[in-house]
Amino acid sequence: MVTAIVGANWGDEGKGKITDTLAQESDIIVRFQGGANAGHTIVNNYGKFALHTLPSGVFYDHTTSIIGNGVALDIPKLIGEIKSVVEKGVPMPKILVSDRAQMVMPYHVLFDTYEEARLAGKSFGSTKSGIAPFYSDKYAKIGFQVSELFDEEALKEKIDRVLVQKNILLEYLYHQPLLKADEIFATLMEYKEMIEPYVCDTSAYLYQAIKDGKHILLEGQLGSLKDPDHGIYPMVTSSSTLAGYGAIGAGIPPYEIKKIVTVCKAYSSAVGAGAFVSEIFGDEADELRRRGGDGGEYGATTGRPRRMGWFDCVASKYGCRIQGTTDVAFTVLDVLGYLDEIPVCTGYEIDGEITTEFPTTSKLEKAKPVLEVLPGWKTDIRGIKRYEDLPENCRNYIEFVQKHIGFPITIISNGPGRDDIIYV
Ligand code: GDP
Repeated sequence: MVTAIVGANWGDEGKGKITDTLAQESDIIVRFQGGANAGHTIVNNYGKFALHTLPSGVFYDHTTSIIGNGVALDIPKLIGEIKSVVEKGVPMPKILVSDRAQMVMPYHVLFDTYEEARLAGKSFGSTKSGIAPFYSDKYAKIGFQVSELFDEEALKEKIDRVLVQKNILLEYLYHQPLLKADEIFATLMEYKEMIEPYVCDTSAYLYQAIKDGKHILLEGQLGSLKDPDHGIYPMVTSSSTLAGYGAIGAGIPPYEIKKIVTVCKAYSSAVGAGAFVSEIFGDEADELRRRGGDGGEYGATTGRPRRMGWFDCVASKYGCRIQGTTDVAFTVLDVLGYLDEIPVCTGYEIDGEITTEFPTTSKLEKAKPVLEVLPGWKTDIRGIKRYEDLPENCRNYIEFVQKHIGFPITIISNGPGRDDIIYV
């Protein structure tokens, strides 16, 4: 049985926490897209962790963590992350890396940085982890698969071929030092040594696991609105953030994904540039940012303050639909306990017309939020275990959101910890 855990919005919805919680009952957790450019923050009995590459299941003895073929694999970062969790007392996790995963090359980070500098004010707000150059190369068929590390002659030839193109860009577009083939080869040989113990045919492993009736989680990074096809293009990420891509990025049959848990945060936050209709500013935003998440809404990878906004029913309805949601996990609800009144964005006004359908980017930029204001509950709801025990105004807020997005909220997260969870 395969369950995907994905985001409805701009990312940072609390997928890591939901994955960590659901991993208690799972055998295998798979990362299927993205790279070390975003992070999940997880709080559990070992402490607080910011994971960028490792799946959020690494904290259990009984789980196997898989880096699927769809991931942008940054080998030194992965190895560093394994080391850092083990140093904090977590037992050595069982990790498998797809032999078909492609590697973030040392120059991808450089190209990301140079391109952001070249674009200056018009940049996409990249985290400069090399993700866009990585996926560009993958689809231009000049990327490097892990499997290629094991054929040194062919590898050398390919490096020579690829560097011709890279060095032209470095010389004429970016005016930066050129790459040397022998240095790249030496680095890749170091990568080979680091990654060899983990490499296998993960799609064959998952095929067998599905046959054996194992419980498998696919863990998405970012959210629907950052998807290159269905998101706020071009302010998107470079790999698909949708559950449907989970089948490809993990190498499993699409019909095996039986459950799609889409994570929605009880308010909005976003990083990077792009239209953000329900955005708030000033003191109102500062307070929500300070109280938000677990210790404030600042990027897990970059430390950047996140942009803040009220819950957006239009974006979330769309985000859930495009994921193919079976269940909504509604997170970080406890944070709203300080508010007397809670505005919710229920529609967009575009050129004088009100819509509840999420538009394409050019129209989105013109959209103004239509807000409805709900009464707050003014209490701390952490520690509550049953839906009926939540304050009435809090239940009304949940039910209001559920009605507007049109998908069932079956999981509520009322604190950062593993057990701060209510099943409806
Ligand atoms: P992800 O990338 O979707 O996993 O989200 P992040 O890890 O970036 O952001 C979620 C943040 O909210 C983390 O700091 C979590 O510890 C925290 N968090 C998750 N669920 C809850 C919750 O229900 N309540 C509170 N207060 N914090 C939560």
